[in-house]
Amino acid sequence: MQLDAKIPGGPLAQKWDRHRFELKLVNPANKRKFDIIVVGTGLAGGAASASLAELGYNVKTFCIQDSPRRAHSIAAQGGINAAKNYTNEGDSIWRLFYDTVKGGDFRAREANVYRLAQISNNIIDQCVAQGVPFARDYGGLLANRSFGGAQVSRTFYARGQTGQQLLLGAYSALMRQVGLGKVQMFPRREMLDLVVANGQARGIVVRNLITGQIETHAAHAVVLCTGGYGNVFFLSTNAMASNVSASFKAYKRGAYFANPCFTQIHPTCIPVHGTYQSKLTLMSESLRNDGRVWVPKKPGDNRAPQQIPEDERDYYLESKYPSFGNLVPRDVASRNAKEQCDMGKGVGETKLAVYLDFADAIKRDGREAIERKYGNLFQMYEKITGEDPYGTPMMIYPAVHYTMGGLWVDYNLMSTIDGLFVLGEANFSDHGANRLGASALMQGLADGYFVIPYTIGGYIARTSFSEVTPDNEAFKDTAREASDRIEKLLGINGKRTVDDFHRQLGQIMWDYCGMARNNQGLEKARGMIQELRTEFWQNAVVPGDDKDFNQSLERAGRVADFMEFAELMVIDALARLESCGGHFNEAYQTEENEARRDDDNFCHVAAWSHTGPDKEPEFHKEPLIFENVELTQRSYK
Ligand SMILES: Cc1cc2nc3c(=O)[nH]c(=O)nc-3n(C[C@H](O)[C@H](O)[C@H](O)COP(=O)(O)OP(=O)(O)OC[C@H]3O[C@@H](n4cnc5c(N)ncnc54)[C@H](O)[C@@H]3O)c2cc1C
Repeated sequence: MQLDAKIPGGPLAQKWDRHRFELKLVNPANKRKFDIIVVGTGLAGGAASASLAELGYNVKTFCIQDSPRRAHSIAAQGGINAAKNYTNEGDSIWRLFYDTVKGGDFRAREANVYRLAQISNNIIDQCVAQGVPFARDYGGLLANRSFGGAQVSRTFYARGQTGQQLLLGAYSALMRQVGLGKVQMFPRREMLDLVVANGQARGIVVRNLITGQIETHAAHAVVLCTGGYGNVFFLSTNAMASNVSASFKAYKRGAYFANPCFTQIHPTCIPVHGTYQSKLTLMSESLRNDGRVWVPKKPGDNRAPQQIPEDERDYYLESKYPSFGNLVPRDVASRNAKEQCDMGKGVGETKLAVYLDFADAIKRDGREAIERKYGNLFQMYEKITGEDPYGTPMMIYPAVHYTMGGLWVDYNLMSTIDGLFVLGEANFSDHGANRLGASALMQGLADGYFVIPYTIGGYIARTSFSEVTPDNEAFKDTAREASDRIEKLLGINGKRTVDDFHRQLGQIMWDYCGMARNNQGLEKARGMIQELRTEFWQNAVVPGDDKDFNQSLERAGRVADFMEFAELMVIDALARLESCGGHFNEAYQTEENEARRDDDNFCHVAAWSHTGPDKEPEFHKEPLIFENVELTQRSYK
């Protein structure tokens, strides 16, 4: 299949306006005749549900949690980017666009990224109107701080709880529509499969997580906003329920999966403590506004940080990247932390950590100022580690955080299945091979509040729909397949817990498809994943039954999908014979150990289609064409 991104013609800055004008419209009085399913209530799903209902569509919204408010987006800490230029530092839509394309190592679509930068300003206005309590400066204007990969302060924030405040805004808008009867909310439902009828996405099969009942729901279009798949690594900063299942089921029904190997490893997380841990905690990138990253110059130096004099410390990011210093993008900062630890300069008990030190900032601005900016993050750090970061430097290490890959979508955010739209972290669209900080919230809200309301109308207005209800064969077949799979999981009756399998899978992925990869390791990982998958279906233990609240069963289904999906990630990594952003293949690096792209052969999106059980996925290419920015070696010096 030819991958047509449907990028509108005309100059970059006019594409979105022109496209919105050219899209067919659905008459306001006709919108109430159309039903739309939205899966997920994070920032993307919450925003989409509220906006589509506000327009008049009948929306059915689903989520795993007991309340839409508990979606993973609530955890976002540092902030959201926008090109307002309130600080007069020279920011602009163009600069945000350029920084994002460069930050993604030139592996994102120009047109999508430009639209994102344009819409960024609307998002802030919308959220302020909802009452989101962004931090303000002394004059009353919204305040900004800096995030990686940018030399302007363009990140809007609400202390270290920006995601929570933005989600409360989206949730309010969503609940208003629930109150008006335009959104029907289905919490505690897990989408098990997508129903495709006559080549169109027409519904979903879900499991009621309280009663265990399998339900089917029909609609004219389905919008997936089910988040990222970082938990394939077992240990990540993601919420425990984050998963790949909905996206992966859609992939198996015909949606292409794009760039699955592009994973973001965030440089500033609390290091792993031991083997009984099931979760990692992020220390927001915003901390690098004031915190200085360093290691002892001498490998194996075991002195306490306060005993190491200034001239025996290596502030390696500041010396190596004088222009961006501690605020280099995440892929660059993570690789450098690993490099320092590989040289034996890591600190702490495991030696897999570097310092993030606030001593200078506290001396300069006072403890109170630092507390005002980062108080909740410092408190969280102290609660977890038992150390006071006001008095001793934090210890941090990279951890899996975000996935740039996702279901392939065109400019309208529609997948390769007609009527299946994918928003937020679940799609692959805007970040290329590395996402800049504070741009996931921007993308999720752009997709939900400002893109899908237009593009879904364009689809509905040009499509003829046959009558499809849950009595249709496609629904019955899909529901039967979902039930059979549950039965199969419960029938394994093995001896090893699902979590144990998941932990081992995560270790394989971290060791061979993590921060640095090589072909030999990837080949090895592929074999290990296949073996582990076989063992899973013979030896996993899934207690309880299907007619009840059964979290072991829920987890087993998600881990079974991760077991298959992990192999797709490895296949994708093996096929990309270059390094770019978060995909660092050791064979392709510059003399200074930076990622070396191969624009002649790999300036494309790699999209994979499912060809059947245990068959090789098929590769499809969407060439990336850069007409407005020059492809250069990324430099942050
Ligand atoms: C600790 C942390 C801090 C972060 N801080 C920032 C930040 O400061 N700035 C920034 O820009 N980004 C940040 N990010 C990234 C950002 O939070 C996420 O990328 C973003 O919130 C994802 O939003 P989403 O709406 O796409 O998905 P999510 O918020 O992940 O929502 C997914 C939704 O889908 C539902 N769901 C999933 N699977 C199913 C299924 N099978 N059936 C039914 N429902 C399902 C879930 O219940 C949930 O409602 C951070 C991430 C982490 C982990």
